[in-house]
Amino acid sequence: MNVYDSARMAEVMAPHGYRAVASADQASLVILNTCHIREKAAEKIYSELGRLRRLKDARTAAGDEMMIAVGGCVAQAEGEEIWARAPWVDIVFGPQTYHRLAEMVAGARRREAVLDTEFPVEPKFDFLPRATGAAGFSEFLTIQEGCDKFCSFCVVPYTRGAEFSRPVADVLAEARALVARGAREVMLLGQNVNAYRGPDEDGAETSLGRLLFRLARLEGLERLRYTTSHPRDIHEAQLAAHRDVPEVMPYLHLPVQCGSDAILGAMNRGHTADDYRRTVARLRVARPDIALSSDFIVGFPGESDADFAATLALVRDVKFAQAYSFKYSPRPGTPAAMLRKQIPDADKKVRLAELQALLRAQQLMFNQSWRGREVPVLLERRGRREGQLVGRSPYMQAVHVAAPGSLLGAIVEVRIDTVGANSLAGHLLDPPVGVAAVERRADAA
Ligand code: SAH
Ligand code: SF4
Repeated sequence: MNVYDSARMAEVMAPHGYRAVASADQASLVILNTCHIREKAAEKIYSELGRLRRLKDARTAAGDEMMIAVGGCVAQAEGEEIWARAPWVDIVFGPQTYHRLAEMVAGARRREAVLDTEFPVEPKFDFLPRATGAAGFSEFLTIQEGCDKFCSFCVVPYTRGAEFSRPVADVLAEARALVARGAREVMLLGQNVNAYRGPDEDGAETSLGRLLFRLARLEGLERLRYTTSHPRDIHEAQLAAHRDVPEVMPYLHLPVQCGSDAILGAMNRGHTADDYRRTVARLRVARPDIALSSDFIVGFPGESDADFAATLALVRDVKFAQAYSFKYSPRPGTPAAMLRKQIPDADKKVRLAELQALLRAQQLMFNQSWRGREVPVLLERRGRREGQLVGRSPYMQAVHVAAPGSLLGAIVEVRIDTVGANSLAGHLLDPPVGVAAVERRADAA
Protein backbone atom coordinates (compact mmCIF):
# COMPACT_ATOMS: atom_id res chain seq x y z
CA MET A 1 0.00 0.00 0.00
CA ASN A 2 2.92 2.34 0.60
CA VAL A 3 4.01 1.77 -3.00
CA TYR A 4 0.51 2.77 -4.14
CA ASP A 5 0.50 5.80 -1.82
CA SER A 6 3.96 6.93 -2.98
CA ALA A 7 2.82 6.87 -6.60
CA ARG A 8 -0.19 9.02 -5.64
CA MET A 9 2.12 11.50 -3.85
CA ALA A 10 4.18 11.84 -7.03
CA GLU A 11 0.96 12.53 -8.94
CA VAL A 12 -0.16 15.13 -6.38
CA MET A 13 3.13 17.00 -6.80
CA ALA A 14 3.40 16.71 -10.61
CA PRO A 15 1.16 19.73 -11.39
CA HIS A 16 3.42 21.79 -9.11
CA GLY A 17 6.47 21.13 -11.25
CA TYR A 18 7.85 18.14 -9.37
CA ARG A 19 8.99 14.94 -11.05
CA ALA A 20 10.65 11.85 -9.65
CA VAL A 21 14.47 11.77 -9.70
CA ALA A 22 16.81 8.84 -9.31
CA SER A 23 18.37 9.69 -5.96
CA ALA A 24 17.93 11.95 -2.96
CA ASP A 25 20.95 14.10 -3.75
CA GLN A 26 19.19 15.43 -6.86
CA ALA A 27 15.91 16.10 -5.07
CA SER A 28 14.48 19.38 -3.81
CA LEU A 29 11.87 17.41 -1.86
CA VAL A 30 12.58 14.06 -0.24
CA ILE A 31 9.62 12.12 1.13
CA LEU A 32 10.13 9.13 3.37
CA ASN A 33 6.93 7.10 3.20
CA THR A 34 7.18 5.06 6.34
CA CYS A 35 5.93 1.82 7.89
CA HIS A 36 5.24 1.36 11.60
CA ILE A 37 4.24 -2.30 11.60
CA ARG A 38 7.39 -3.58 13.32
CA GLU A 39 10.07 -1.78 15.28
CA LYS A 40 12.77 -2.55 12.73
CA ALA A 41 10.84 -0.80 9.97
CA ALA A 42 10.19 2.24 12.16
CA GLU A 43 13.79 2.55 13.36
CA LYS A 44 15.14 2.60 9.80
CA ILE A 45 13.58 6.04 9.39
CA TYR A 46 15.84 7.66 11.93
CA SER A 47 19.05 6.32 10.43
CA GLU A 48 17.85 7.43 7.01
CA LEU A 49 17.01 10.89 8.40
CA GLY A 50 20.55 11.16 9.76
CA ARG A 51 21.94 10.54 6.29
CA LEU A 52 19.53 13.06 4.75
CA ARG A 53 20.55 15.72 7.26
CA ARG A 54 24.12 15.76 5.93
CA LEU A 55 22.79 15.95 2.40
CA LYS A 56 20.44 18.79 3.29
CA ASP A 57 23.23 20.76 5.03
CA ALA A 58 25.45 20.43 1.99
CA ARG A 59 22.62 21.43 -0.38
CA THR A 60 21.58 24.40 1.76
CA ALA A 61 25.20 25.60 1.95
CA ALA A 62 25.27 25.52 -1.87
CA GLY A 63 22.09 27.67 -1.91
CA ASP A 64 19.76 24.87 -3.09
CA GLU A 65 16.40 23.99 -1.60
CA MET A 66 15.98 20.58 -0.07
CA MET A 67 12.91 19.82 1.99
CA ILE A 68 12.46 16.64 3.97
CA ALA A 69 9.02 15.20 4.58
CA VAL A 70 8.11 12.15 6.63
CA GLY A 71 4.83 10.54 5.64
CA GLY A 72 3.05 7.28 6.34
CA CYS A 73 2.38 5.38 9.54
CA VAL A 74 5.49 6.31 11.56
CA ALA A 75 4.56 9.95 10.99
CA GLN A 76 1.01 9.18 12.10
CA ALA A 77 2.10 7.34 15.23
CA GLU A 78 5.04 9.47 16.32
CA GLY A 79 4.03 12.95 15.07
CA GLU A 80 5.99 15.61 16.90
CA GLU A 81 8.48 13.07 18.31
CA ILE A 82 9.98 13.04 14.85
CA TRP A 83 10.93 16.71 15.22
CA ALA A 84 12.32 16.06 18.67
CA ARG A 85 14.67 13.48 17.18
CA ALA A 86 15.18 15.10 13.78
CA PRO A 87 14.46 18.86 13.84
CA TRP A 88 15.73 19.21 10.25
CA VAL A 89 12.51 17.56 9.02
CA ASP A 90 10.18 20.12 7.38
CA ILE A 91 6.90 18.23 7.03
CA VAL A 92 5.27 15.39 8.96
CA PHE A 93 2.08 13.93 7.49
CA GLY A 94 -0.04 10.82 7.97
CA PRO A 95 -1.37 8.30 5.44
CA GLN A 96 -4.77 10.00 5.19
CA THR A 97 -3.63 13.54 4.34
CA TYR A 98 -1.20 13.25 1.43
CA HIS A 99 -3.68 14.79 -1.00
CA ARG A 100 -2.76 18.08 0.76
CA LEU A 101 0.97 17.63 0.17
CA ALA A 102 1.33 20.63 -2.15
CA GLU A 103 -0.16 22.97 0.51
CA MET A 104 2.17 21.46 3.08
CA VAL A 105 5.18 22.15 0.87
CA ALA A 106 4.01 25.75 0.41
CA GLY A 107 3.65 26.07 4.20
CA ALA A 108 7.12 24.67 4.78
CA ARG A 109 8.53 27.11 2.26
CA ARG A 110 7.07 29.90 4.41
CA ARG A 111 9.14 28.28 7.18
CA GLU A 112 6.11 26.96 9.02
CA ALA A 113 6.48 23.61 10.74
CA VAL A 114 3.86 21.45 9.06
CA LEU A 115 2.22 18.59 10.95
CA ASP A 116 -0.82 17.05 9.26
CA THR A 117 -1.88 13.76 10.80
CA GLU A 118 -5.66 14.24 10.91
CA PHE A 119 -8.05 11.50 9.99
CA PRO A 120 -10.03 13.73 7.65
CA VAL A 121 -13.78 13.76 7.25
CA GLU A 122 -13.36 13.68 3.51
CA PRO A 123 -11.51 10.68 2.07
CA LYS A 124 -8.30 11.65 0.28
CA PHE A 125 -9.32 9.58 -2.75
CA ASP A 126 -11.79 12.31 -3.77
CA PHE A 127 -8.97 14.83 -4.11
CA LEU A 128 -6.31 12.90 -5.99
CA PRO A 129 -5.43 13.99 -9.52
CA ARG A 130 -5.98 11.65 -12.43
CA ALA A 131 -2.78 9.88 -13.49
CA THR A 132 -1.57 10.04 -17.09
CA GLY A 133 1.23 8.31 -18.98
CA ALA A 134 1.97 4.62 -19.28
CA ALA A 135 1.04 2.30 -16.44
CA GLY A 136 2.87 -0.89 -15.53
CA PHE A 137 1.46 -4.18 -16.80
CA SER A 138 0.51 -5.04 -13.22
CA GLU A 139 -0.75 -2.18 -11.06
CA PHE A 140 -2.00 -1.69 -7.51
CA LEU A 141 -5.41 -0.20 -6.77
CA THR A 142 -6.43 0.62 -3.19
CA ILE A 143 -10.11 -0.20 -2.66
CA GLN A 144 -10.21 -0.36 1.14
CA GLU A 145 -8.18 1.15 3.93
CA GLY A 146 -7.97 0.96 7.67
CA CYS A 147 -9.05 -1.64 10.16
CA ASP A 148 -11.60 -2.05 12.93
CA LYS A 149 -10.35 -5.43 14.13
CA PHE A 150 -7.77 -4.40 16.70
CA CYS A 151 -5.61 -7.50 16.84
CA SER A 152 -3.77 -7.03 20.10
CA PHE A 153 -0.31 -6.83 18.45
CA CYS A 154 -1.11 -4.47 15.60
CA VAL A 155 -0.76 -0.72 15.03
CA VAL A 156 -2.78 -0.52 11.81
CA PRO A 157 -6.13 0.53 13.40
CA TYR A 158 -4.29 3.41 15.10
CA THR A 159 -2.20 4.56 12.14
CA ARG A 160 -4.46 3.96 9.14
CA GLY A 161 -7.68 4.62 11.01
CA ALA A 162 -11.13 3.07 10.75
CA GLU A 163 -12.25 0.84 7.91
CA PHE A 164 -13.21 2.71 4.76
CA SER A 165 -14.31 1.27 1.42
CA ARG A 166 -14.19 3.28 -1.80
CA PRO A 167 -17.38 3.41 -3.87
CA VAL A 168 -17.68 0.77 -6.61
CA ALA A 169 -17.93 3.41 -9.36
CA ASP A 170 -14.61 4.96 -8.27
CA VAL A 171 -12.89 1.58 -8.24
CA LEU A 172 -14.24 0.71 -11.69
CA ALA A 173 -13.18 4.09 -13.07
CA GLU A 174 -9.66 3.75 -11.69
CA ALA A 175 -9.35 0.19 -13.02
CA ARG A 176 -10.64 1.27 -16.44
CA ALA A 177 -8.10 4.10 -16.52
CA LEU A 178 -5.27 1.73 -15.57
CA VAL A 179 -6.23 -0.64 -18.39
CA ALA A 180 -6.41 2.25 -20.86
CA ARG A 181 -2.86 3.17 -19.80
CA GLY A 182 -1.60 -0.36 -20.45
CA ALA A 183 -2.23 -2.39 -17.28
CA ARG A 184 -3.33 -6.00 -17.83
CA GLU A 185 -3.40 -7.05 -14.20
CA VAL A 186 -4.76 -5.17 -11.21
CA MET A 187 -3.96 -6.02 -7.61
CA LEU A 188 -6.67 -4.68 -5.32
CA LEU A 189 -5.33 -3.46 -1.99
CA GLY A 190 -6.76 -3.12 1.47
CA GLN A 191 -5.65 -3.85 5.03
CA ASN A 192 -8.77 -6.00 5.16
CA VAL A 193 -9.54 -6.21 1.50
CA ASN A 194 -12.23 -8.88 1.85
CA ALA A 195 -14.05 -6.73 4.42
CA TYR A 196 -14.67 -4.36 1.48
CA ARG A 197 -18.24 -3.13 1.43
CA GLY A 198 -18.27 -0.11 -0.86
CA PRO A 199 -21.56 1.36 -2.07
CA ASP A 200 -22.59 0.59 -5.65
CA GLU A 201 -24.35 3.03 -7.99
CA ASP A 202 -27.63 2.51 -6.07
CA GLY A 203 -25.97 2.89 -2.70
CA ALA A 204 -26.18 -0.84 -1.93
CA GLU A 205 -23.24 -2.43 -0.09
CA THR A 206 -21.07 -4.49 -2.41
CA SER A 207 -18.77 -7.26 -1.24
CA LEU A 208 -15.28 -7.90 -2.56
CA GLY A 209 -16.62 -10.99 -4.31
CA ARG A 210 -19.30 -9.00 -6.15
CA LEU A 211 -16.71 -6.35 -7.02
CA LEU A 212 -14.43 -9.00 -8.55
CA PHE A 213 -17.29 -10.16 -10.78
CA ARG A 214 -17.82 -6.60 -12.00
CA LEU A 215 -14.12 -5.82 -12.52
CA ALA A 216 -13.64 -9.03 -14.50
CA ARG A 217 -16.04 -7.70 -17.12
CA LEU A 218 -13.74 -4.78 -17.99
CA GLU A 219 -12.37 -5.27 -21.49
CA GLY A 220 -8.57 -5.74 -21.45
CA LEU A 221 -8.32 -6.52 -17.74
CA GLU A 222 -6.89 -10.04 -17.87
CA ARG A 223 -5.88 -10.74 -14.30
CA LEU A 224 -7.26 -9.80 -10.90
CA ARG A 225 -5.55 -10.23 -7.56
CA TYR A 226 -6.27 -8.80 -4.14
CA THR A 227 -4.55 -8.58 -0.78
CA THR A 228 -4.77 -8.85 2.27
CA SER A 229 -7.72 -11.03 3.23
CA HIS A 230 -8.72 -11.81 6.80
CA PRO A 231 -9.93 -15.36 7.56
CA ARG A 232 -12.99 -13.95 9.36
CA ASP A 233 -14.20 -12.07 6.29
CA ILE A 234 -14.11 -14.89 3.73
CA HIS A 235 -17.55 -14.81 2.11
CA GLU A 236 -19.56 -16.83 -0.41
CA ALA A 237 -19.21 -14.36 -3.28
CA GLN A 238 -15.43 -14.37 -2.77
CA LEU A 239 -15.38 -18.17 -3.08
CA ALA A 240 -17.69 -17.93 -6.09
CA ALA A 241 -15.34 -15.45 -7.75
CA HIS A 242 -12.47 -17.91 -7.40
CA ARG A 243 -14.68 -20.69 -8.73
CA ASP A 244 -16.36 -18.88 -11.63
CA VAL A 245 -14.21 -15.97 -12.76
CA PRO A 246 -11.14 -17.00 -14.79
CA GLU A 247 -9.61 -13.52 -14.37
CA VAL A 248 -9.41 -14.00 -10.59
CA MET A 249 -6.02 -15.60 -10.06
CA PRO A 250 -5.81 -18.83 -8.06
CA TYR A 251 -3.73 -17.34 -5.27
CA LEU A 252 -4.75 -16.07 -1.87
CA HIS A 253 -2.76 -14.37 0.86
CA LEU A 254 -4.63 -15.32 4.02
CA PRO A 255 -2.66 -14.55 7.19
CA VAL A 256 -3.26 -16.93 10.09
CA GLN A 257 -0.46 -15.63 12.39
CA CYS A 258 -0.23 -18.86 14.41
CA GLY A 259 -1.78 -22.27 14.98
CA SER A 260 -2.53 -22.19 18.71
CA ASP A 261 -6.07 -21.34 19.80
CA ALA A 262 -4.84 -19.85 23.08
CA ILE A 263 -2.53 -17.46 21.24
CA LEU A 264 -5.09 -16.73 18.51
CA GLY A 265 -7.47 -15.76 21.33
CA ALA A 266 -4.87 -13.54 23.00
CA MET A 267 -4.20 -11.97 19.61
CA ASN A 268 -7.92 -11.18 19.28
CA ARG A 269 -7.98 -12.75 15.82
CA GLY A 270 -11.57 -13.96 16.19
CA HIS A 271 -11.03 -17.46 14.79
CA THR A 272 -9.47 -20.77 15.82
CA ALA A 273 -6.89 -22.87 14.02
CA ASP A 274 -9.62 -25.32 12.94
CA ASP A 275 -11.76 -22.44 11.62
CA TYR A 276 -8.78 -21.61 9.43
CA ARG A 277 -8.40 -25.24 8.30
CA ARG A 278 -12.11 -25.31 7.37
CA THR A 279 -11.79 -22.04 5.45
CA VAL A 280 -8.86 -23.46 3.50
CA ALA A 281 -10.91 -26.57 2.70
CA ARG A 282 -13.79 -24.40 1.38
CA LEU A 283 -11.36 -22.41 -0.76
CA ARG A 284 -9.93 -25.62 -2.21
CA VAL A 285 -13.41 -26.86 -3.05
CA ALA A 286 -14.10 -23.60 -4.88
CA ARG A 287 -10.73 -23.58 -6.65
CA PRO A 288 -8.79 -26.85 -6.22
CA ASP A 289 -5.49 -25.44 -7.50
CA ILE A 290 -5.54 -22.30 -5.34
CA ALA A 291 -2.09 -21.45 -3.94
CA LEU A 292 -2.11 -20.19 -0.37
CA SER A 293 0.14 -17.70 1.30
CA SER A 294 0.17 -16.50 4.90
CA ASP A 295 1.75 -14.33 7.58
CA PHE A 296 3.07 -15.73 10.85
CA ILE A 297 4.16 -14.16 14.10
CA VAL A 298 6.40 -16.19 16.42
CA GLY A 299 7.07 -15.33 20.04
CA PHE A 300 3.80 -13.57 20.82
CA PRO A 301 3.69 -12.97 24.62
CA GLY A 302 2.99 -16.23 26.45
CA GLU A 303 3.69 -18.47 23.45
CA SER A 304 4.78 -21.87 24.86
CA ASP A 305 6.63 -24.65 23.07
CA ALA A 306 3.27 -26.41 22.68
CA ASP A 307 1.73 -23.27 21.13
CA PHE A 308 4.58 -23.07 18.68
CA ALA A 309 4.26 -26.79 17.88
CA ALA A 310 0.60 -26.10 17.03
CA THR A 311 1.76 -23.51 14.50
CA LEU A 312 4.08 -26.02 12.87
CA ALA A 313 1.24 -28.57 12.82
CA LEU A 314 -1.07 -26.10 11.09
CA VAL A 315 1.58 -25.34 8.47
CA ARG A 316 2.06 -29.07 7.83
CA ASP A 317 -1.69 -29.51 7.41
CA VAL A 318 -2.30 -26.57 5.09
CA LYS A 319 0.82 -26.65 2.90
CA PHE A 320 1.56 -23.09 1.85
CA ALA A 321 2.89 -22.04 -1.53
CA GLN A 322 4.67 -19.16 0.16
CA ALA A 323 4.60 -17.17 3.39
CA TYR A 324 5.99 -14.30 5.42
CA SER A 325 7.01 -14.80 9.03
CA PHE A 326 8.13 -12.39 11.71
CA LYS A 327 9.33 -12.25 15.27
CA TYR A 328 6.72 -10.59 17.45
CA SER A 329 7.62 -6.92 17.81
CA PRO A 330 6.02 -5.05 20.73
CA ARG A 331 4.41 -1.90 19.37
CA PRO A 332 3.81 1.11 21.63
CA GLY A 333 0.15 1.59 22.53
CA THR A 334 -0.99 -1.92 21.57
CA PRO A 335 -2.42 -4.22 24.28
CA ALA A 336 0.03 -7.07 23.60
CA ALA A 337 3.02 -4.82 24.28
CA MET A 338 1.76 -4.48 27.88
CA LEU A 339 1.52 -8.25 28.48
CA ARG A 340 3.93 -9.55 31.05
CA LYS A 341 5.08 -12.84 29.53
CA GLN A 342 7.22 -11.38 26.76
CA ILE A 343 9.34 -14.02 25.00
CA PRO A 344 13.14 -13.55 24.98
CA ASP A 345 14.56 -12.63 21.61
CA ALA A 346 16.81 -15.72 21.55
CA ASP A 347 13.73 -17.99 21.73
CA LYS A 348 11.94 -16.02 19.03
CA LYS A 349 14.98 -16.42 16.82
CA VAL A 350 15.08 -20.21 17.21
CA ARG A 351 11.35 -20.55 16.52
CA LEU A 352 11.50 -18.25 13.52
CA ALA A 353 14.35 -20.28 12.00
CA GLU A 354 12.44 -23.55 12.49
CA LEU A 355 9.22 -22.15 11.03
CA GLN A 356 11.00 -20.56 8.09
CA ALA A 357 12.80 -23.80 7.25
CA LEU A 358 9.46 -25.60 7.10
CA LEU A 359 7.78 -22.85 5.06
CA ARG A 360 10.70 -22.70 2.67
CA ALA A 361 10.59 -26.46 2.14
CA GLN A 362 6.86 -26.19 1.35
CA GLN A 363 7.49 -23.35 -1.08
CA LEU A 364 10.16 -25.37 -2.85
CA MET A 365 7.86 -28.39 -2.98
CA PHE A 366 5.07 -26.30 -4.48
CA ASN A 367 7.44 -24.90 -7.10
CA GLN A 368 8.84 -28.35 -7.87
CA SER A 369 5.35 -29.57 -8.68
CA TRP A 370 5.51 -27.23 -11.70
CA ARG A 371 8.60 -28.70 -13.33
CA GLY A 372 7.78 -29.88 -16.83
CA ARG A 373 4.33 -28.27 -16.82
CA GLU A 374 2.95 -25.30 -18.75
CA VAL A 375 1.90 -22.07 -17.09
CA PRO A 376 0.54 -18.82 -18.51
CA VAL A 377 2.93 -16.01 -17.57
CA LEU A 378 2.26 -12.28 -17.73
CA LEU A 379 5.63 -10.87 -18.85
CA GLU A 380 6.12 -7.74 -16.76
CA ARG A 381 9.73 -6.61 -17.06
CA ARG A 382 13.20 -7.34 -18.43
CA GLY A 383 15.33 -9.78 -16.46
CA ARG A 384 18.88 -9.19 -15.33
CA ARG A 385 20.23 -11.30 -18.17
CA GLU A 386 20.21 -10.06 -21.76
CA GLY A 387 17.25 -11.43 -23.72
CA GLN A 388 15.41 -12.55 -20.61
CA LEU A 389 11.96 -11.42 -19.45
CA VAL A 390 10.39 -11.93 -16.04
CA GLY A 391 6.73 -12.37 -15.24
CA ARG A 392 4.36 -14.07 -12.88
CA SER A 393 2.44 -17.30 -13.05
CA PRO A 394 -1.20 -17.30 -11.89
CA TYR A 395 0.16 -18.61 -8.57
CA MET A 396 2.35 -15.53 -8.08
CA GLN A 397 5.61 -17.35 -8.80
CA ALA A 398 8.28 -15.29 -10.55
CA VAL A 399 9.06 -16.94 -13.90
CA HIS A 400 12.17 -16.21 -15.99
CA VAL A 401 12.03 -16.91 -19.69
CA ALA A 402 14.12 -16.11 -22.78
CA ALA A 403 11.83 -13.91 -24.88
CA PRO A 404 12.02 -10.81 -27.09
CA GLY A 405 11.19 -7.44 -25.52
CA SER A 406 8.25 -7.17 -27.92
CA LEU A 407 6.46 -9.69 -25.70
CA LEU A 408 6.49 -7.42 -22.65
CA GLY A 409 2.90 -7.16 -21.44
CA ALA A 410 1.84 -10.38 -23.15
CA ILE A 411 0.49 -13.43 -21.39
CA VAL A 412 2.46 -16.35 -22.84
CA GLU A 413 2.51 -20.10 -22.24
CA VAL A 414 5.79 -21.19 -20.66
CA ARG A 415 7.04 -24.73 -20.08
CA ILE A 416 8.87 -24.85 -16.74
CA ASP A 417 12.40 -26.33 -16.93
CA THR A 418 14.14 -25.36 -13.69
CA VAL A 419 12.82 -24.59 -10.26
CA GLY A 420 14.13 -22.80 -7.18
CA ALA A 421 12.53 -21.80 -3.90
CA ASN A 422 12.05 -18.22 -5.09
CA SER A 423 11.53 -18.49 -8.82
CA LEU A 424 10.98 -20.69 -11.85
CA ALA A 425 12.61 -20.66 -15.27
CA GLY A 426 11.25 -22.02 -18.51
CA HIS A 427 10.99 -21.62 -22.25
CA LEU A 428 8.34 -20.21 -24.53
CA LEU A 429 6.07 -22.63 -26.25
CA ASP A 430 6.20 -22.20 -29.99
CA PRO A 431 4.49 -20.15 -31.34
CA PRO A 432 4.09 -17.87 -28.33
CA VAL A 433 0.46 -17.46 -27.44
CA GLY A 434 -0.15 -13.86 -26.44
CA VAL A 435 1.24 -11.96 -29.43
CA ALA A 436 -2.34 -11.26 -30.43
CA ALA A 437 -2.92 -9.72 -27.05
CA VAL A 438 0.03 -7.38 -27.49
CA GLU A 439 -1.30 -6.27 -30.85
CA ARG A 440 -4.68 -5.57 -29.33
CA ARG A 441 -3.00 -3.45 -26.67
CA ALA A 442 -1.22 -1.43 -29.33
CA ASP A 443 -4.57 -0.86 -31.12
CA ALA A 444 -6.20 0.26 -27.91
CA ALA A 445 -3.41 2.77 -27.33
N1 SAH B 1 -4.52 -7.05 7.87
C1 SAH B 1 -3.67 -8.14 7.71
C2 SAH B 1 -2.20 -7.88 8.05
C3 SAH B 1 -1.68 -6.52 8.20
S1 SAH B 1 -0.08 -6.31 8.91
C4 SAH B 1 -4.15 -9.27 8.59
O1 SAH B 1 -4.93 -9.08 9.48
O2 SAH B 1 -3.71 -10.36 8.40
C5 SAH B 1 0.93 -7.45 8.02
C6 SAH B 1 1.54 -8.50 8.88
O3 SAH B 1 2.49 -7.95 9.75
C7 SAH B 1 0.56 -9.22 9.79
O4 SAH B 1 -0.14 -10.22 9.15
C8 SAH B 1 1.46 -9.74 10.88
O5 SAH B 1 1.92 -11.04 10.58
C9 SAH B 1 2.64 -8.78 10.88
N2 SAH B 1 2.62 -7.96 12.09
C10 SAH B 1 1.74 -7.01 12.45
N3 SAH B 1 2.03 -6.50 13.64
C11 SAH B 1 3.15 -7.16 14.07
C12 SAH B 1 3.95 -7.08 15.24
N4 SAH B 1 3.64 -6.27 16.25
N5 SAH B 1 5.03 -7.90 15.32
C13 SAH B 1 5.34 -8.75 14.33
N6 SAH B 1 4.62 -8.85 13.20
C14 SAH B 1 3.54 -8.07 13.07
FE1 SF4 C 1 -3.75 -5.45 12.08
FE2 SF4 C 1 -4.78 -7.07 10.24
FE3 SF4 C 1 -5.45 -7.37 12.79
FE4 SF4 C 1 -6.33 -5.23 11.44
S1 SF4 C 1 -6.85 -7.38 11.07
S2 SF4 C 1 -5.49 -5.22 13.50
S3 SF4 C 1 -4.57 -4.83 10.11
S4 SF4 C 1 -3.39 -7.65 11.85
